[in-house]
Amino acid sequence: MTTFEPPTTLSPSRIKSFLTCPLQFRFEYVEKLPGTVNRAAVLGSTVHLGLEYLFERHPAGERDRAAAVACIADAVAEFRDDAEYQTLALDDKEVVKFGKEAQSLASKYLDMENPNAVAVIANELWVEHDIGGVTLRGKIDRLDEHGDMTVGIVDYKTGRPPSQRFEQDAMFGVWCYALLVLVTREEMPSRARLMYLSSRETIDVTPTPQSLRGVRGKVLAVHQAISRSCERGDFRPAPTQKICDRCRYRPFCPAYGGEPDDAAAALADAGLVPA
Ligand code: SF4
Repeated sequence: MTTFEPPTTLSPSRIKSFLTCPLQFRFEYVEKLPGTVNRAAVLGSTVHLGLEYLFERHPAGERDRAAAVACIADAVAEFRDDAEYQTLALDDKEVVKFGKEAQSLASKYLDMENPNAVAVIANELWVEHDIGGVTLRGKIDRLDEHGDMTVGIVDYKTGRPPSQRFEQDAMFGVWCYALLVLVTREEMPSRARLMYLSSRETIDVTPTPQSLRGVRGKVLAVHQAISRSCERGDFRPAPTQKICDRCRYRPFCPAYGGEPDDAAAALADAGLVPA
């Protein structure tokens, strides 16, 4: 049985990964084996960068469609040198399609909100804090100041919105960011917003002291569960077709006849070094 040191830091995406498939979490975040690069994630990162440029390079009043097109074009150009983008090995047609999709998502963003009316405190704001013995950290896409002097969190999403059944799970990241804003800035955000650009849908939540106590409890509970799994070397696979079809670790997954302890050596033999 292989055991591991429990992690001392967590992020919303790591928590989500553990809750989705503990074994995939082990491979990706405990053993730090090279993960799965997927086009949707690279496209999302590109659009995030383009929107960051829109707010950072252009003052309110100048954030129009032409500015957005230029910012996204710059982000797309920058990502061509990115190692994950290059792993996608897009051909010429696919490169053009990728750029068009990035522009389309930014255009949909502009249908959802007037960026000239937004007072941005920070873009891509790195936040971290000790939450009961574990460091919770992450990057907030945008922190805004509202007219009533409260702060609000914005998280851009480029994938499809969740069904109602999974809405709360999808919100967990912004709840974590709300908790981090509360403990690092000592102010309760008045709103946390998810913006689903592809469908132009917005989901808002209003954090309260009680709801953030619940988030803190969940972070600690997940950290305890991860620590137990590390100490016992027990990370169960949780197969679902949608996730497994894109999982690079599938050959080492017992749900498909593989052996998890073989993964590190096999990926090193293939020239893929741990991240
Ligand atoms: S193949 Fe599926 S069940 Fe196995 S580790 Fe990957 S995501 Fe988890």
